[in-house]
Amino acid sequence: MADKINAVKGMNDILPASVPRTDRLPDSALWSWFEQKVRQLLARYGYHYIVTPVVEPTALFVRGLGEVTDIVEKEMYSFTDSMNGDKLTLRPEATAGIVRAMVEHNALYNGPLRLWTMGAMFRHERPQKGRYRQFHQLDVEALGFPGPDVDAELILMVRALWRELGLVEGEHVRLEINSLGQPAERQAHRDALIRHFEAHADVLDADAKRRLHSNPLRILDTKNPAMQAIVEAAPQLMDFLGEESRAHFDAVRSVLDAAGLAYRVNPRLVRGMDYYNLTVFEWVTDQLGSQGTVCGGGRYDGLIGQMGGKPAPAVGFGLGIERLLLLIQELGLPVPSAAPAAYAVVPSAAVLPQVMVVLEQLRAAGVSVLQHAGGGNMKAQFRKADASGARYALIFGDDELARGEVTVKSLRDAGGVQVARSLSEVAAWAATLQSPAPNT
Ligand code: ATP
Ligand code: MG
Repeated sequence: MADKINAVKGMNDILPASVPRTDRLPDSALWSWFEQKVRQLLARYGYHYIVTPVVEPTALFVRGLGEVTDIVEKEMYSFTDSMNGDKLTLRPEATAGIVRAMVEHNALYNGPLRLWTMGAMFRHERPQKGRYRQFHQLDVEALGFPGPDVDAELILMVRALWRELGLVEGEHVRLEINSLGQPAERQAHRDALIRHFEAHADVLDADAKRRLHSNPLRILDTKNPAMQAIVEAAPQLMDFLGEESRAHFDAVRSVLDAAGLAYRVNPRLVRGMDYYNLTVFEWVTDQLGSQGTVCGGGRYDGLIGQMGGKPAPAVGFGLGIERLLLLIQELGLPVPSAAPAAYAVVPSAAVLPQVMVVLEQLRAAGVSVLQHAGGGNMKAQFRKADASGARYALIFGDDELARGEVTVKSLRDAGGVQVARSLSEVAAWAATLQSPAPNT
């Protein structure tokens, strides 16, 4: 046998639940259930679907995310197109590409837009539970809206998604918010921060020293325990916010308060990208170890202008799909099964043409039916029917077919209630397969 070729480290297959695997990655039924919930929910809020390329010019992310960010400094999959020398990058996040597309197509000409996309992102990180090199995001962006109403709408929409999925806010996932103010306010805070950290230069690690003058705000994000005390004592941006920034933040908060959504104002929430201003938020969980952020986002009023577009405000978030589905699995929340409504037992190959016509009619009526394939005796076929999780077995025996009937047998009650159904009136009884037998 030839050597096997395996997937790239940190890049995963999403497989049907029936395929055994040792990692705890979500199965494809959970995955598509989530996608379906997302599609329905976002339509209810009036968000439109968009698809942008997975590969973009490297310059897009360097300009958009900021040079001194984890992503641009060390996580991007960048390469040179060997055909023409172009510098390209596999997208590490979705916002920059969506903004590029909006600017390129002058899409905001007719007014603001609410958009969403879902797809693979790539970051060269150390793979671990909840952190991969290829991962997937739901990404939602509202472009051209100054807020604060839309900021709050996005946050409430995520809460609505939690509820759809069976997650309880405050218990399974918690909301943290902050305001980053405006550039001038950040500048004043930045100067104060630099003075503060310079006064404690002896405690700074190498990373912090490097960032002291390039991006001191990111020092607040450090995970180094030795630096916690000076981070704790650092001047807070909130104290540098002007009246308008405060009013914006208060307006977001009053919507959340009115909607009964509890949150924590976390003054140290700064987010990983440079483009944010005013509102930033994260939904976090305690159940996934250090990979606790399930969803993060905020306002980025400067980015569209920075990308060469006519300046326009914007706000959005990214949600990590693997992390979220891991959480749902970990909590053991009820998720729908991918089991068919019925399993067709076919004792003799000779009757297949007649049977398959009936199965087509059932599926056209909206019933999911798994057809036994590959022969085998009745006992073996019933074992398969049980294992499929189907609610009913359809038995196409020679006697039944001779009478123009099929036997419908319940697989979910001990007695195995059976009824005969007419093959000439499939549409009349198809719907009964969608619900449990009357006595179960
Ligand atoms: P973290 O602090 O965990 O590295 P981040 O701030 O880099 O997260 P964002 O860029 O805000 O993450 O991306 C939004 C969401 O995408 C995150 O909250 C997380 O759920 C998910 N995510 C980010 N990086 C990864 C990854 N490498 N693997 C899986 N999910 C990820
Ligand atoms: Mg990260």
